[in-house]
Amino acid sequence: MSDQIKFILDENRLPESWYNIAADLPQAAPPVLHPGTGEPIGPDDLAPLFPMALIMQEVSTEREIEIPGEVRNIYRQWRPSPLFRARRLEKVLDTPARIYYKYEGISPAGSHKPNTSVAQAYYNKQQGVKKLATETVAGQWGSSLAMACAMFGLECKVFMVKVSFRQKPYRKALMESYGATVIASPSTETDAGKAILAEHPDSSGSLGIAISEAVEVAAKDADTKYSLGSVLNHVLLHQTVIGEEALLQFEQADDYPDVIIGCTGGGSNFAGISFPFIGRKMRGEQDVKVVAVEPAACPSMTRGKYAYDFGDTAHLTPLVKTHTLGSSFVPPPVHAGGLRYHGMAPLVSHLLEIGQIKAQSVHQLETFQAGLQFAKAEGIIPAPEANHAVAGVIQEALRCRESGESKAILFNLSGHGHFDMQAYSDYLAGKLKDYEYPEKEIAMALAGLPSVG
Ligand SMILES: *Cc1c(COP(=O)(O)O)cnc(C)c1O
Repeated sequence: MSDQIKFILDENRLPESWYNIAADLPQAAPPVLHPGTGEPIGPDDLAPLFPMALIMQEVSTEREIEIPGEVRNIYRQWRPSPLFRARRLEKVLDTPARIYYKYEGISPAGSHKPNTSVAQAYYNKQQGVKKLATETVAGQWGSSLAMACAMFGLECKVFMVKVSFRQKPYRKALMESYGATVIASPSTETDAGKAILAEHPDSSGSLGIAISEAVEVAAKDADTKYSLGSVLNHVLLHQTVIGEEALLQFEQADDYPDVIIGCTGGGSNFAGISFPFIGRKMRGEQDVKVVAVEPAACPSMTRGKYAYDFGDTAHLTPLVKTHTLGSSFVPPPVHAGGLRYHGMAPLVSHLLEIGQIKAQSVHQLETFQAGLQFAKAEGIIPAPEANHAVAGVIQEALRCRESGESKAILFNLSGHGHFDMQAYSDYLAGKLKDYEYPEKEIAMALAGLPSVG
């Protein structure tokens, strides 16, 4: 094992394909259902929303899917991303564990999300689409898609959850700088938005509402498609470039992770770092423990129900089987804006269900404490979402200190926190609180689940 801190791959070792975990599942994930008929949907049902190339990826069972040359050329600007050994953090924690992190904050938008936004913009452009509509909460996804649309000459319309539209003016400015149109959701531009406003004129919005608005816009206009930054199979697929690189970097480090930890909102960065390793585990090549860390304030995997649910509030999307808190769930205003989706990626949910991964939740204060400990040791201020992974890593490293075990721990540092300094200010000023979601409210949101099968 070397003393190296930074494992960099030459750009000509950028992976040539994404890894599709569907090829290695011992049993397939439950099918996506049409909300009207309750029958599995086919590619044609999705055609109004997505270009055919992405739909085919959504249902593919081929193990390797080639990354198009034009997409690889853009990836090359910041990929392969570095893998770091966190030696200073190890020292602070006085742990025998070896802690590694893959750093996705070096992309132009500051997170892992451009790995999929660039691919999605590319396939839409190929099919002659003119405009993409999407939603964003914290603004990470909106800015990543806005950047990709600018690169491919596509128009971009972003429905931004109203509360963040007001609280995150710099993210909005970033999207507009890339040429996107940003609309506070709920808006009067769509029937879904108008219906919410009629009932709740002061609605501060939610991810589910913003998705309804973006889907509606795409469904009604032939030149516009919809784009989603997490949850769907093709999004998780594009993110696997992270784990594919990490496999090569661990070869270089002459090491292999015993534990992989990722934060989960919709599940895409977690899938990105872990799926290539889980694939090796399922193929019997090498074992690894994989842990998803979610906020205690939005505990879809640890307290939700594994059931068919809609992806949005207005129930315009197909039904997917997922660990869900119910599509009417409106999360409390915690600061990990990117981890506030009511459901989970169906593939991640399925892996939890079949015992290939574990899930845990952490409270907000512990995540910021962990993030600051990391920042002081390693210099990088993590995005508040990524702090959840850091908190999980610190817990694991401290367990190693107790037991004396020298495990290799890998986590994904999904983004930097430079646009989230308000959250850090609030934490430092003692304004943040922990929030345990009341059982009664979860039960109420779950009572509204659609009845299927
Ligand atoms: C959006 C985002 C997340 C959460 O989304 P996933 O799909 O679960 O990865 C996590 N970290 C950062 C930095 C994000 O921007």
